[in-house]
Amino acid sequence: MKREILSKLIEISRNPYPYLKEWKKEKGKKILGSTLADVPEEIIYASGAHPFLILGTTKPLRLATTRLPDNACSLSRSNLELVLTYEGELFDGYVLPQVCDTTQHLCDIWKRKFSDRYFENFLVPRQVNRPSAGYWYIQESERLIWSLERYLGIKIKEDALWEAIDIYNENRRLLRSLYDIKRKHPGMLTNREFFDIVKSGFFMDKKEHNMLLKELIDSIDIEKDKKEDDYVPIVVAGIVVEPNEIFDFMDNGKINVVSDDLCTGSRYIEVETKKEGTPIEAIADAYLKKGPFSPIHDEGNKMFYNLKNRVEKYGAKGIIYVHIKYCESQDYDFPDLRRNLKAQGIKVLEVETEYQTTHMGQTKTRIQAFVEALSEEARNE
Ligand code: SF4
Repeated sequence: MKREILSKLIEISRNPYPYLKEWKKEKGKKILGSTLADVPEEIIYASGAHPFLILGTTKPLRLATTRLPDNACSLSRSNLELVLTYEGELFDGYVLPQVCDTTQHLCDIWKRKFSDRYFENFLVPRQVNRPSAGYWYIQESERLIWSLERYLGIKIKEDALWEAIDIYNENRRLLRSLYDIKRKHPGMLTNREFFDIVKSGFFMDKKEHNMLLKELIDSIDIEKDKKEDDYVPIVVAGIVVEPNEIFDFMDNGKINVVSDDLCTGSRYIEVETKKEGTPIEAIADAYLKKGPFSPIHDEGNKMFYNLKNRVEKYGAKGIIYVHIKYCESQDYDFPDLRRNLKAQGIKVLEVETEYQTTHMGQTKTRIQAFVEALSEEARNE
């Protein structure tokens, strides 16, 4: 495996700003930041601007605390901090989705604070089991197209949208292939490395990301690269895993993440956009096929069945649920989810996290204890 490609992707995932600053100078493109989740990146890409997914910072909070209360989730607070204090200069504008009450307020704060830049909100349908959800997503996508066209003084053509869809489909396909390899040969690529690779794609030029992924996958020699060892298969659930050292704890505990429902994992890479109807219809259709996501209301127990199916399909021994402190949507979902999973005999470990956490010792110990208990159980089966 070409370790230099792997190192480059990992480096960008951990600190994308030097890469992006250089890239912007060279390409002269506008960079538009958005936050999780479900802004149609393909539309921004087709406009000629560069979509960048803002995923917070683990650096100290300085200014965000003056605008968001302490009990707002650390994802929203650290996203705001990133642009207020650390990397705001990079962005020419923002397209922020409204998926929950926090993001709704965040949009208002953001818009006022950055009134000198392009700003658009994207009203993601919050009830995807309604027949109108697809229509809503299409209307919002058209509004975004209209807004970007006015801002950039261009026309977003259908061909450009299809081309963007192709590039994003290829990206997801390549990431799925890599996930498959990692799932079958966990020693070859660690959990942290794999999810860092996915993350780098949220920041980089997508075509370049595809090129590097392809080269990386082609360079893999299974027989030479694989490392035999005993790993415990686990499903990871939640929205994001941050700080991503949590993946290191899983790696140290010889956990193989065989599936997940993360917005920065399977929920992003699993669904291919079918090239049917108009490009906007195709993008909306793919959105409706995505896996469940806490703040988006769907049919009753969809999240539970989604996780149960993943456990069964990949023979996982349990689930690690990563709970972002003060995420109201997760606060509501988790008790029922845990009860239903336990009723099925599925072991669940809840890990509560905050971006600014400096004391990770307890999380490490709890993950170790969980995996040891699962291994012990497996030995006694
Ligand atoms: S869904 Fe949860 S984690 Fe995401 S912004 Fe809303 S409150 Fe924060």
